[in-house]
Amino acid sequence: MAIIVKSRRNISAMQDAAKINVEALQAVDEAIRPGVTTGELDKIAHDIIVGHGAIPSFYGYPSGSRYPYPATITASINEELVHGIPGDRVLQEGDIVSIDCGTTYKGWVADSAFTAPVGRVSDEALRLLEITESSLYKGIEICLPDRRFGDVSNAIQTFVEGRGYNVVREYGGHGVGRNMHEEPHIPNWGRKGQGHRMRPGMTFALEPMVMAGSPQTQVLDDHWTVVMADGGLCAHFEHTIAVTENGPEILTKWE
Ligand code: MG
Ligand code: MG
Repeated sequence: MAIIVKSRRNISAMQDAAKINVEALQAVDEAIRPGVTTGELDKIAHDIIVGHGAIPSFYGYPSGSRYPYPATITASINEELVHGIPGDRVLQEGDIVSIDCGTTYKGWVADSAFTAPVGRVSDEALRLLEITESSLYKGIEICLPDRRFGDVSNAIQTFVEGRGYNVVREYGGHGVGRNMHEEPHIPNWGRKGQGHRMRPGMTFALEPMVMAGSPQTQVLDDHWTVVMADGGLCAHFEHTIAVTENGPEILTKWE
C-alpha cells in the first residue's frame, strides 16, 4: 500500500482533529496527580472529544476484533509501555504514566501521547522522560522533503542509544490520515538512507518508546497492555506531524 499524500486542505482538517486531541490530552495532564484513577482520566478525555462532536479513535479499535479496545485513552503506568486499559487503578506518588489518545473529527485522525510524572518522581524517571521527549523532537526535526524515513528512525535510535537507553523494537510510528494506522510503519530504530523519501503532504505519527533496561516486551492477558519483560520503567511520547515545503509541522502541538 502506498503512502498517502494529503492536500493542504486535508492537513487543515487533520489540524482540526489535532486541536481537539490536544485539548483532551492537556485536560488529562492537568488532572494527573496521586489519588486519581486512570478511569477518571479516561472520562475527562472522552467528554472533551465527544463534546466537540468528534469520535475517540481508539474506542472499538480495531473494528471486527475479538478484543476491541474499550476506552478513549490508553494509560500505561511505570513498566507498562503502551495500551494500558484505564480503570480503577489509582495513580501513586512516584509513578510515571503514559497517556495516548486519538481523535477522529470529520473523518480525519490525530494521534498523540505524552508521559507525565505523578507527584514527585525519581531523578531516574525524570531523565527517562526527558530523553524520550527529546528523541521525539530529534526525529521530527529531520522530517523534511527528500529525507528518508530510515533517517528519522536512525536519528531517534542514535540519540537514545547514545545516552545509554534503548528503543523498543516491535512498536513504532505510522502514517495517519483518514485512518489511524496508514503506511508506512516507522520504527524507532533503523538505518540512514533506507525507506521511502518524505514528500510534502505526508502525515504521520512519530512515537519513540524508550527504556533504560532491556527493550523486550510482552502483552498481558487483557490482550492489550504491553509491559517491559524485565519490569523496568519505560516512557512514550508521540506527535502527529505533516511534512511541508517549509519543514515539519507538528499538528498536535500543545498550546
Ligand atoms: Mg498514539
Ligand atoms: Mg500512534
